[in-house]
This record gives sequence, structure tokens and C-alpha cells, in this order.
Amino acid sequence: MRLDEFLDIYTDTVVRKDYEMTENSIHAKQLCYCKRKAELGVTEESVKETLKEPRVLLGVLVDRGIESILGGRKKVYKKRAGNYTIAGTPDIVDGDLVEVKTTLKVPDSPREHDKMQLRMYMWLLGKEKAYIWYFSPYSYREFEVTDPYTTDDIKLFIEYWESPRWSWECKWCKVREECDV
Ligand code: SF4
Repeated sequence: MRLDEFLDIYTDTVVRKDYEMTENSIHAKQLCYCKRKAELGVTEESVKETLKEPRVLLGVLVDRGIESILGGRKKVYKKRAGNYTIAGTPDIVDGDLVEVKTTLKVPDSPREHDKMQLRMYMWLLGKEKAYIWYFSPYSYREFEVTDPYTTDDIKLFIEYWESPRWSWECKWCKVREECDV
């Protein structure tokens, strides 16, 4: 097999078709980042392009490796927050809730945007405690997170969904050229 063929199979396999983002349905991960980016970057083609970025590809392969070792496929969890349905696809739910992140350098404490995503998943699954695993080429580490969001928190995140959500987002944004913000 040639690499291009593998990449096509990989993107076709990985792109999620079991939930749909609509005006009133938001993935928790999108809610953790820029609203305009979520609006501009939701076509299947753009998702496939993102999946082929080396950093993303490696992260997905690690995810898939963990899924394969644990013998499962990530499920879609959904919960209402006001007029919206929030969807989430946590990496591991086996009694413990775990979100897995790959990175160049394992941080000394959980990164704010990673913690935000996990706290949303904790709300979604009704968990008081959860974990983030960071993997880098040089080390790995687990952090415990104990403060789930409430439904009111989620409603506020939707109401005040900023573009961008984080000051560093525009620098790395893949839809920057299309952005009118
Ligand atoms: S350039 Fe900045 S504001 Fe525009 S979509 Fe990207 S992250 Fe959002």
C-alpha cells in the first residue's frame, strides 16, 4: 500500500458520521474553541484535511491504538443544556473517564483548554472525577481533574461563545483566510 492510499482509508475511517453538528447541537470540543472556527470548519472535506495534519494524525493514531488495546470504539454521549444538545466523544469511559492528549512536551499541569473539554465531559457523564493523560515522544503523565461544569456553566459557554475563545487560536487557525472576524 502507498501512503496516499493509507491516508484516504484513514480519513474515511476516522471521520465521525454518527453525530451531526446543527444549529442547536454542538460538540463539547468545539465549544472549547473559537465559535467562528466551528462555523467555518465543519465540512467533511475540511475535517479530512485537518485529520491529515501530522500533529493531528499522530494524536488520532495514539487514540486508535488505545481504543484497540482496550477493545472499544468511542461512544457519542449527549445531554441537553437549555435549547442545545451537547455531544461528546470521550476517549475512555470504563468506570473512569479519561481524555488522552498527545503533545510535544508534557505540561506541568493540565492545559486550560484540555481541562475545559474534560470538565464538559464530566458534566455530560455526571462524573465528579476524571483524568487527562498526556503522551509526548519523551514522557507521559496523568492528571486528576475534580471540578465538573454545571448545566448553568455550559449555558454560559454557549451564550458567551467567543471568536476566538483563546488568545493563541488565530495564530494556528486553519480557516484564518476565510475568517471575517
Ligand atoms: S482566525 Fe481566529 S477568530 Fe477567525 S476563525 Fe480562526 S481562531 Fe477564530
